[in-house]
Amino acid sequence: MIRLTDIHKQYENGTRALKGVSVQIDDGEFVFLVGPSGSGKSTIIKLITGEVQPTEGRLMVNGYNMTDISPKQIPLMRRTLGVVFQDFRLIEKKTVSQNLEVAMRAVGANTREIQRRIPYILKLVGLTGKENQKVTQLSGGEQQRVAIARALANNPSVIIADEPTGNLDPARSLEIMSLLEKINEMGTTILVVTHEKELVNRFDKRVIAIESGRIISDAAGGYYNNVL
Ligand code: ADP
Repeated sequence: MIRLTDIHKQYENGTRALKGVSVQIDDGEFVFLVGPSGSGKSTIIKLITGEVQPTEGRLMVNGYNMTDISPKQIPLMRRTLGVVFQDFRLIEKKTVSQNLEVAMRAVGANTREIQRRIPYILKLVGLTGKENQKVTQLSGGEQQRVAIARALANNPSVIIADEPTGNLDPARSLEIMSLLEKINEMGTTILVVTHEKELVNRFDKRVIAIESGRIISDAAGGYYNNVL
């Protein structure tokens, strides 16, 4: 569960990125976070991942109190999150399997666990047969599937996807969003930041809209209406 309580974030240069944001995302939810550029979406993501700290307010992430988390606990908290980016951020000279293996080794998984889990995850994301391909030899849609597979490798409770379809054509974007929906149906909480109105409107999900550092609507049944 992720809970922001009256969060304010002011950056060192004085920019007030968030002005009193309160929101709770329960385990198992699928949530779109939408809003214009500069509205504070990335700041919310970075607060959740622990990359930035709130100026004021309380923040809980999967049982960790982020306002007084110790440096030792940060890596443990991060293991509860899988993050997917617009630009994939894969290790380009490595294969599909190796990209997943690196993520699993980083948290101490052994060879047996790795050999058991990688085929399962690749099947889940529809990449069976691509294990030994270099990621640079894959299409954009396939690379994003690898990134999603890597995010899932350590079995996080939440996947955060920051503009995951920003570099993909509409058909590929729909496939990626449908894959995230399938992963959500299997129990993982999903938080997707996106600009893509049409895509949001095709999925019947909770939509949190933010503008100028404030939540301006939060409605189930996902329509990007009366916003923007
Ligand atoms: P979004 O993701 O919705 O585009 P951001 O959270 O990136 O919005 O930005 C919100 C506001 O905070 C913007 O005015 C942006 O310029 C500012 N901002 C973001 N990061 C920083 C930073 N590191 N230092 C100063 N200002 C920042």
